This record gives sequence, C-alpha cells and structure tokens, in this order.
Amino acid sequence: MLFSGSLSSVNASKMTVKNLTKNDLPNVKILATGGTIAGSSQSSTDTTGYESGALDIKTIIKAVPELKKLANVSGEQIVNIGSQNINNSILLKLAKRINTLLASKDVDGIVVTHGTDTLEETAYFLNLVVKSQKPVVIVGSMRPATAISADGPLNLYNAVEIASSKEAKDKGVLVTLNDRIGAARYITKTNTTATDTFKSAEQGYVGEIAGGKVVFYNEPIRKHTTKSIFNVSKLDKLPQVDILYTYQNDNRYLYDAAVNAGAKGIVVAGSGNGSMSDTALEGAKDAVKKGVVITKSSRVGSGIVTHEASDDKDKFVTSDSLNPQKARILLMLALTKTKNPKKIQDYFDEY
Ligand code: ASP
Repeated sequence: MLFSGSLSSVNASKMTVKNLTKNDLPNVKILATGGTIAGSSQSSTDTTGYESGALDIKTIIKAVPELKKLANVSGEQIVNIGSQNINNSILLKLAKRINTLLASKDVDGIVVTHGTDTLEETAYFLNLVVKSQKPVVIVGSMRPATAISADGPLNLYNAVEIASSKEAKDKGVLVTLNDRIGAARYITKTNTTATDTFKSAEQGYVGEIAGGKVVFYNEPIRKHTTKSIFNVSKLDKLPQVDILYTYQNDNRYLYDAAVNAGAKGIVVAGSGNGSMSDTALEGAKDAVKKGVVITKSSRVGSGIVTHEASDDKDKFVTSDSLNPQKARILLMLALTKTKNPKKIQDYFDEY
C-alpha cells in the first residue's frame, strides 16, 4: 500500500473540499523528477534498498487526497530518476518549464518533487534562474512511499501548503522536509539516511510548519530569482565545471585531467579554510594560466572560505559559504557571463 500512514484523514479532506469551491483555491503545479519520494519496495520495512523514481506523479497525487483541500493541484512528469542522475540538461529543462508556468496567471505556485541526494543543487540553481516572485518549493523524502512511516506524503502536503501561501512569495526557492522550511542558498543534506537530514547549520531555517500552519521567521538576503542577473532562456548547455576534493598526498594530475577534459571552471573542495597542498596548488595555478577559473570552497561542511591576498595573486575565486556542490552551480552560471575572476568573485559575494 502506498503512503499507508496518510490515508486516514481522507474523510476530513472531503469535508473541507465540500466547503471550498475550486475557484477559492490557488493553482499549484507539481513538477516531478523522481527520487525516494517516488520510491517503491516490495517490503514495508525496506527504507534503503528500494527503487527510486518508481512511481509516477499521478499515482503520488492520488495517494495524498488531502492535497485537494489546499490547492487545485496538477502534476507533470519532467523525468523519473534518482537525483544522482540529474544533469545540466535536466536543470535547464526544469528551469525553463517553471519560468513558462509561472508567467501564466493560471499558476500560483510550483512544487518540485526531487531525490534528496542532489536536491540542494537543483534548488540553488532554480533560486538563481527562476524569474518570478511566486513560490517555488522543492520537496523530497528519506523513506520510500511504501515504507512504514513514509515521510513523503506529509512532506508533499507541506510543500503544497507553502506553495499556496502568500507569505512564501519572494523568498527565493524554498526546500521542505521534516516540517522545516529552508532557503535554497543555505540548506544542505547532512545525514545519509535520517529524516531530519536537511539543515542550515549557520544561517538557520527560514520557517517551519506546525499545527498545519506555515510560519516564517527569516528571509534569505542573498540575491535570488527576480533580482538575479542569470538567465537560462537562451541557453541550451552550461559550461563544464568539475569539483576536485583535497586530501593528504593528493596530486596535480587531477587538475590536468579536468583541464584536458574541457573544464572551464574547477571548484576545489579544500581542507579547512580552503587550504590546498603544494602539489594541488601547482595544478590549480597552471589551470588558471589556461583560462580555467578556480574557485576555492571547503570540504568542512560549514563556514566561510575567506578571501586572502594570495587568492588575488593566484587569480583564485573563493566561495563565501557555498559548499562545493553549490559553488559549482554558481560558477557554471557565472561563466555564462564572464571569465574574469574578479567579476566572478563579486557574484560569489552577492549570491
Ligand atoms: N538516491 C535518492 C535520490 O536522491 C535518495 C533520495 O531521494 O532520498 O534520488
């Protein structure tokens, strides 16, 4: 049985539907991309070995009839895959579709269902390229739809409620799981399997959902959506940006390999405050000489990588508090505008 924990309140939901006409409710479009929220397994106790992206969006919407009391929801399947397989061309397709839908007066908000593994990358990408103040909410789950105590149904219900709320307007792209609301710029996955995996260690959540109410406490102040200069409407691909992880005894050949494979930018997941070994530094400096933009982030998981005089000398960009996977997203978009490291540094300081 799907979403078995959620079906008990169908009667309550029907009662509410009776009282509200379709016209009173906002129109929310759910764009589905797969992930665990669309996952299925033979066994209800299987919370890890399931197939992700097994259920289509129609099945998922049908399994949460309570959505009807919040909004006129309709679904559209963009892809149905684990988010580890989301690529640049899917990001572009999704962003363009969202911009088309939000330009219509018939759409009040968007929910994107997504696997949790790379959810923050898609959320931050959309945060930078969606051209609307209407709510866009990304949602996933940590347990498949078939699991005992599946978290998908309530997460989806919360996402539709946020996307329907006026307060969610102009807050940038939002992420919800586990009754929390996070800003795409700040939120990150922190635990491999736990349902409270999405956290903003330094900046905090922007809100939460309690007692069926959407409550906001903070706003993301970094530039997003309508204030962002990045525009994908005319793009059919994004520049290649790779991420290289630092570790003891690492070597320059990783940098040479990335450059030879066509990287236009490299994000370094540096140790501590973005430090790199002398051998990695040699590879990075030579990459700069070949026109590749190096951006130093950190493998630590939180904190700002500070910009030092040596970074200016080396023509390196630093990622502020963006983790490597989000720094890659901003660097790709920055490279659609310029190759000048100083200008790209300005983007990292603003977005
Ligand atoms: N591998 C899955 C994905 O990201 C995990 C999940 O959705 O939680 O699609």
